Amino acid sequence: MCKLITHPHGGICCFENFLLESGPAFYYIIFMISDYIGAHVTTAGGVENSLLHADKIRAGGFAIFTRNQRRWEACDLCENSIRLFRERMEEYGYTADMVLPHNSYLINLAQPDPDKRARSFEVFIDELQRVRTLGLKFLNFHPGSTVGLISKRRGIEYISEAVNRAHSMVEGAVHVLETTSGQTNKIGGAFEEIAEIIDGVEDKSRIGVCIDTCHIFAAGYDISTADGWAKTMEQFDRIIGIEYLKGMHLNDSVGELGSKIDRHENIGMGRIGLEGFRAILNDDRLRQIPMILETPDRRNWDREIELLRSLIQPK
Ligand SMILES: [Zn+2]
Ligand SMILES: [Zn+2]
Repeated sequence: MCKLITHPHGGICCFENFLLESGPAFYYIIFMISDYIGAHVTTAGGVENSLLHADKIRAGGFAIFTRNQRRWEACDLCENSIRLFRERMEEYGYTADMVLPHNSYLINLAQPDPDKRARSFEVFIDELQRVRTLGLKFLNFHPGSTVGLISKRRGIEYISEAVNRAHSMVEGAVHVLETTSGQTNKIGGAFEEIAEIIDGVEDKSRIGVCIDTCHIFAAGYDISTADGWAKTMEQFDRIIGIEYLKGMHLNDSVGELGSKIDRHENIGMGRIGLEGFRAILNDDRLRQIPMILETPDRRNWDREIELLRSLIQPK
């Protein structure tokens, strides 16, 4: 007998109960499959509220900003928020590896101006400390931009240096580089650039990569078919290494393949389409990493999460 039931935060569990008779006793063997599919939820009213939002949309994983993403100044996390966040993580059954906090948009670790770069670094450290205070471990960040004033190679060196320095200042955090859409001056649109940054990082156990599906498609990696996804992952593994993949941002793309346009579309409504997402959702290598929606229609995230789950084919 086999029945599907729902996991506490929405993952699909397949309970196959094999009834084995042995004398008067019965043995039950239970298989459980869960996922980390979720969305980037709001922290309005306090970071602890993010858990309520994640639970409401039945997310198996989630992302948050730990401070205002568009302002340099930020208040400290208050004691009460920290305590409640940690308590709710347990209460709702989330663990640190299901959560992929996103850093502030203002941070640019490749900034050529030394004063501005120092300011970016200060905020970067503050974010890492917040992540650790909340009992989390990942911090997803955009690699940076040369702003057209230095070579990408120099920008990449700045990023690696910053990561190394941050490693020595904040223990335990894992820095996750997000792939970008290959816009002029922005670093991280090619797998080779991500690999170069990692190359310059001393502690490789604390650096990872997050693939944003919209960004890599816009950068020229065709993931709209199963073949395209397989080929892209073969490149990722050869150039960067699959072991560095720590998270995914699941977004369809408004722009065409190679357009370099960073505009997210709802799943199945853009140029990647459902076939591409089906291939991603059925890739066993991505089972236990956060898969985060950043699609425009946030009121629909619960349904979009369900749609993504419906693409998973039972093995
Ligand atoms: Zn991002
Ligand atoms: Zn993203």
